Amino acid sequence: MKDSNFLKEKNARSLWHPMTHPADSLANPPTIVTGAQGVRITDVDGHEVVDGVGGLWNVNLGFSCQPIKDAIAAQLDQLPYYSTFRGTTNDKVIELSEMLRDFFAPDGLTRAFYTSGGSDSVETALRLARQFHKIRGEQGRTKFLSLKKGYHGTHMGGASVNGNANFRTQYEPLLPGCFHIPAPYTYRNPFNVTDPEKLAQLCLQSLEDEIAFQGAGTIAAFIMEPVLGAGGVIPPHESFMPGAREICTKHGILLIADEVITAFGRTGGWSGSRYWSVKPDFTCTAKAITNGYFPFGAVMIADHVVETFEKDTTNKAAIGHGYTYSGHPVGAAAAIACLEETLRLKVNENAAARGAELFAGLQKIGAANDIVGDVRGGHGLMCAMELVSDAATKAPIDKQTVNTIQEVTYQNGAMIRVSGPNIILSPPLVLTTEDVQTILTALEAGFAAV
Ligand code: PMP
Repeated sequence: MKDSNFLKEKNARSLWHPMTHPADSLANPPTIVTGAQGVRITDVDGHEVVDGVGGLWNVNLGFSCQPIKDAIAAQLDQLPYYSTFRGTTNDKVIELSEMLRDFFAPDGLTRAFYTSGGSDSVETALRLARQFHKIRGEQGRTKFLSLKKGYHGTHMGGASVNGNANFRTQYEPLLPGCFHIPAPYTYRNPFNVTDPEKLAQLCLQSLEDEIAFQGAGTIAAFIMEPVLGAGGVIPPHESFMPGAREICTKHGILLIADEVITAFGRTGGWSGSRYWSVKPDFTCTAKAITNGYFPFGAVMIADHVVETFEKDTTNKAAIGHGYTYSGHPVGAAAAIACLEETLRLKVNENAAARGAELFAGLQKIGAANDIVGDVRGGHGLMCAMELVSDAATKAPIDKQTVNTIQEVTYQNGAMIRVSGPNIILSPPLVLTTEDVQTILTALEAGFAAV
């Protein structure tokens, strides 16, 4: 076994971690993960636990997906890199694009633009949305609307539409012209409404009101996650996304579905938009597109947007945007193998079935523990428990209590994610009923410790 204390010291002195205070790395050293098989990870101290987080909501097929590993190895031999900038492309990215076109056909999305991850995908959609309106002569449509509690990555555009102050305040000034409306978050909302359907209608009215206030002709796009993820797994009522689609269409505003988490089966549907029967104008993907084995993403573009760009006879539709790694052949090879496995295993069906079991188990834990204020889930394998110190006032829990639950749960066999007062679960979509039980039993031990 490696000397874990020595590694923890080295870690603290040589790198900074995302979403972590740099001074925290020695006081609260991170778990040093050294291996993984199936849905389990092992750490430097020899613990083996079920990964209830699924990497970072991305390892949908688990850690032992041989076809993806083989595809990456073979592609490194065949063509390890070539760009898709002006004048060149590669065979793998063409093959992948045809597959994605088929996969996203029911969502009305017919072109792919490639990126290196989720934040890139969001940035791409925001930029292409503005360009779409400029091609059409609507120069004034530059603003973006989004949901409070929404998470859209950390580039400047994404941070500007982000609905959580933690990811914004220290980085201001952000992009001008970005406005937020209340999320359909039943447990806490400015309307004090607990009926999800009524709340959805009130939030949609807020969207209408904001559009009227800003002027529809100034707004380029509305961006939302079909199920809000990092903000604490907030599933909207089924009427919300269709309602938002209708409002956007009515006002000539593009709808960007940020499906960095929800695409490829996590909700139980093949995409989050399809789950809600919505056709977006752009769909941002990343994460599970390569099962987390290669940094990669794609923005899928709706047919009418494609037409506007491709029929432009001026130079307005020339795309002045892209990344060195757009259409990376190794990423494309990984994504092809990943998509084949995703479809072959019908992981969306297992996500729905195991998700129901996990949600039911969490509700049971919630009912037995006063500090659980809200349990959210019921839409595939994304669930959360929001912890409070007082159920009546809904005062948030202290950090130490959540950290203890996380630690004891880990010691008892499951990795869970803590985000503010929320415990978030997003395990691989291939986990079994027994794995679900392992997570629940470990969590029960975690709660028993506080
Ligand atoms: N959008 C959503 C909905 C996300 O959940 C994330 C990452 N959690 C991102 C964008 C950013 O993706 P990345 O971290 O790959 O840049």
